[in-house]
Amino acid sequence: MRFAADHDFHIHSTVSSCCHDPAQTPEALLRYAEENGYRKICLTNHFWDETVKSEAEWIDKHYFEPVCSVLPLPQGENTQFLFGAEADMDYNFVFGISPERLQKFDFVTVATTHMHLDGNTVKTKIQTPEEAAELWFERNEALLKKDLPWHKIGIAHLTCGHILKERTPEVVKLLDEKKMYAFFSDCAAKGVGIELNMKTLNMSNEEKEILLHPYHVAKDCGCKFYLGSDSHKQAVLADVKQNFEDVITLLDLKESDKFALCR
Ligand SMILES: [Zn+2]
Ligand SMILES: [Zn+2]
Repeated sequence: MRFAADHDFHIHSTVSSCCHDPAQTPEALLRYAEENGYRKICLTNHFWDETVKSEAEWIDKHYFEPVCSVLPLPQGENTQFLFGAEADMDYNFVFGISPERLQKFDFVTVATTHMHLDGNTVKTKIQTPEEAAELWFERNEALLKKDLPWHKIGIAHLTCGHILKERTPEVVKLLDEKKMYAFFSDCAAKGVGIELNMKTLNMSNEEKEILLHPYHVAKDCGCKFYLGSDSHKQAVLADVKQNFEDVITLLDLKESDKFALCR
């Protein structure tokens, strides 16, 4: 059976400082989910747990209280609205949520590829694709070494533009095949979810081939996937479902490839 596009596990609301659309409320997101026939959605606002010590200077303060201000989340008749967060690791690979606070969330997506935040997730600005490719492995491998409840952890946007803006495809092309197989095999063994949110509808064929390759490797390794639009505003929600369907087709995903929490 084809992988059903019946969930969205990476969405921001006005609580995230990078969300500038006052209409991006939990109520509006539930409407978006119901209109698209989703069974489950998860709100994943940015969160850095203020009880976790970090050398980094977090410019945007996404602390626990504002993140929780959305609770209780509205529930639909056929749509369950889960409470999650998007977590970071600082440049010392410190994971930004304490074990106690982790228990408060239904799901956490970890953004190992927020490599644009110098002074926070990287010490100094990344300059070259080679440097970025090396760091891609370092950060992802560091995450897997942590002791986390993997059944409710996802890895966010592994091929997104935060890696090195328009040079991101160059970086992805440089990812060593053998190391990628080792990394995704470890992901599959741990049971961490792999996020899909590439905007393939607007991509050239060449770009598609490059940016989808890691996910083909992940699938080969037996990884489980979930869909996450990473939307920050209402205007972009219109073609999210169509994009999800396109990615599912391109990767030829089956329902058995789905991350268990989304089922
Ligand atoms: Zn992100
Ligand atoms: Zn996000």
